[in-house]
Amino acid sequence: MILNIPEVNETKFRSKAKHFGTLVKYLDTTIQEYPYRNKKILLRICRYELDDSTISEKNVEYLGYVESLEGVQTSHSYTAFDLSKIKFSTLTCDHCHVARKRNKYFMFMEKGNVISIGSSCVDKYFEGQILHILKACTVLKQYTVSEETVESFIKKYSYVPLSNIVGATREATNNFLQWEKGISSKKVIDNLEDFDDFSYDKKGFSKKLDNLEINNEFNNNIFNVLSSDFVAGKNIGIAAYGIYKIFSMAEKPNYTIGEKLELENVSITSFYEEDFGYGPTYKVFLTDSVNNFITNTSTGSKFGQLVTQGPKEAFSIKGTVKYLGDNATVLTRVSKNKKK
Ligand SMILES: [Zn+2]
Repeated sequence: MILNIPEVNETKFRSKAKHFGTLVKYLDTTIQEYPYRNKKILLRICRYELDDSTISEKNVEYLGYVESLEGVQTSHSYTAFDLSKIKFSTLTCDHCHVARKRNKYFMFMEKGNVISIGSSCVDKYFEGQILHILKACTVLKQYTVSEETVESFIKKYSYVPLSNIVGATREATNNFLQWEKGISSKKVIDNLEDFDDFSYDKKGFSKKLDNLEINNEFNNNIFNVLSSDFVAGKNIGIAAYGIYKIFSMAEKPNYTIGEKLELENVSITSFYEEDFGYGPTYKVFLTDSVNNFITNTSTGSKFGQLVTQGPKEAFSIKGTVKYLGDNATVLTRVSKNKKK
């Protein structure tokens, strides 16, 4: 019997196979294609041969086994013959025919008939050392390629283009406005395939990523995961959250303190006016065209007066950078740019 072991399961497989000694022989490693949902994926497969010649010499075919634990029946078909249709309660041992309580039967095809043999009877029935081969098969089969191993391989080891995750995250977070814990990342994973080759502002994204404050392990993981164009399946959740965080983050401007700025297309988000007895003090909050936040506090300034009178449309300003905060750039000596 040939056992196809995906390379990712190979270490576990080999440590288990050791117990069965010379019964298990390594053949080769090749790349093989497996279907996954609507796609085909390539897996590195290590082939092993389980020496079951002792069974085939008896002119029987081993079909797998049927088990019943606490009344729950499971079947494990190793050939195209579907054992799930067999009712466990109808089985008896075709060797001893004793109706004793068993929880497992090995199933064989013998001369066109399906027979069931209890584990304590197989060696006697076939007059040979059969049971340890069947045990090897049961233990080692769990590492072979199956729908589940392909699925877990995809989750752990396959890589998804970052652009797909950006598109799916945008969709799942209502354009990066809202992250719902436990829900958004699942939505992202479910919708990944709808966003093949999603295009986004990659330069702007890397700039914001570079501005991500790496002050803890979580942010460090986000940074590392998002620094590559492909994301491992098991990291899709953290990537999606990082993408949400980055796109919802105001861009931190590249200014230096003391720098004189001319900003175009700023608009007022809010302002207030106070009077401490030295004339009115104006505090103004603005955003520029790429959503940087700018504030200015000044006493008796023309700019403050102008703003509180409220220009409704975007306008240009001049000012000097006084302080670079986390969320806003503080400007001083601000004036409205005269129209050219
Ligand atoms: Zn028996």
